[in-house]
Formats: sequence, structure tokens, C-alpha cells
Amino acid sequence: MSKRKSILIIGPTAVGKSTLLTQALKDFPDELREIITYTTRSPRAGESEGDPYHFVTEEKFRELLAKNFFIEHAVVHGLLYGTPRDQVDLTHQANKTVIMDIDVQGAKKFREAYPEAVTVFILPPSIDVLRQRFRARGATDEADLERRIESAHRELAQAEDFDYRIVNNDFQSAYAELRKIIEDLLKNQ
Ligand code: 5GP
Repeated sequence: MSKRKSILIIGPTAVGKSTLLTQALKDFPDELREIITYTTRSPRAGESEGDPYHFVTEEKFRELLAKNFFIEHAVVHGLLYGTPRDQVDLTHQANKTVIMDIDVQGAKKFREAYPEAVTVFILPPSIDVLRQRFRARGATDEADLERRIESAHRELAQAEDFDYRIVNNDFQSAYAELRKIIEDLLKNQ
């Protein structure tokens, strides 16, 4: 029986996780499946239901939580996020590899449920670069920005707890590292 594989892309907001993940999905369309997680935050400009989240009310989230719908859930920047168990299990049953973007606390809890998960922590070249990226996104006010920087510090302090670390200075070289990790994982099924 093949192992039930998962790749978790971890790291602070705006570090470039979703760009790396999107490229990986393009390069390994037959092997990887992205998990669409649930959140109580509102969609930002350009986002809609299912892209990049299932956007639900807090009431709905709590209802799902009570039904044991989530593998893990976490409060990130004061909002709820959760990983649906059904999507992960269906992906594994289809013999595909899960890939998802998740925060540090969520990755640790996910790994308790699926210990074979491979965890890849994406680091910014510096906190200043991260701050610039937050600003460039234009999606956050100053208080939100400071909250995110604080969370980033907390998350970066835990980078060593994961299997791999990639510094996202230049997309091409960061992606080359991620690609190698994915190739090795897919080879060792
Ligand atoms: P944003 O709201 O900026 O898209 O994401 C905020 C953070 O939530 C990101 O660091 C992302 O990795 C994390 N996140 C997204 N989905 C989940 C999830 O299902 N569980 C957990 N624990 N974190 C998540």
C-alpha cells in the first residue's frame, strides 16, 4: 500500500507560500491536490468562495467544528481557519499527494494526525522584506500589519521544528528547492 503523503507549506503571511504552491500544482498536476481550507475571514478583493478559501460564518465554522469536520483548526490573526478532514482523506484514497498552505500551529496539529506529512517552512530573507511585502499587498492597515509582523516573529522562531527550510529571496531558486523536495517525496512512495 502506498504511503498517504502530504506536503505542508508553512511560514508567515506574505512570505510567498501561495506562489510556490501554485507553481508546484502546475508542474505536478497529476500527483498533487490542493486542499481548500475554511476560514471566517471575509474575502479580499479578487477572492471568492473556494478561491483561495471556503469562506464561512463563525456560526457555520463552529457547527462544522462540533461535527469533528476539521483535522485541525487555529485562530490566526484573530480569525478561525480549519483543514477539512474529508478533502485530505479523499485525496489520499485517490492516491494523490496533499499540498497545502497552513500556519505553524496548524502544521504541528496536522502532523499529529498524519505523521508522515512532509513540512516545508518558507522564510523571508528578512523581516524588513516581509514588511515591504505586506505593504505592497495593500490589504492591511497599520495595526493589522504590526499584528502580522508579531505573528511572523513568533512563527520564524519555530522554523527549526520542521523538516525543510527554504529562504524565499528569489522565486526561481526557492522554487527549485521546493521542486526537489516534491520530486524526492514522489519518488519514495
Ligand atoms: P490569510 O488570511 O492571509 O490568507 O492567511 C493567514 C494564515 O492562515 C496563513 O499563514 C495561512 O497559512 C493560514 N491558514 C490557512 N488555512 C489554514 C488552515 O486550515 N489551518 C491553519 N491552521 N492555518 C491556515
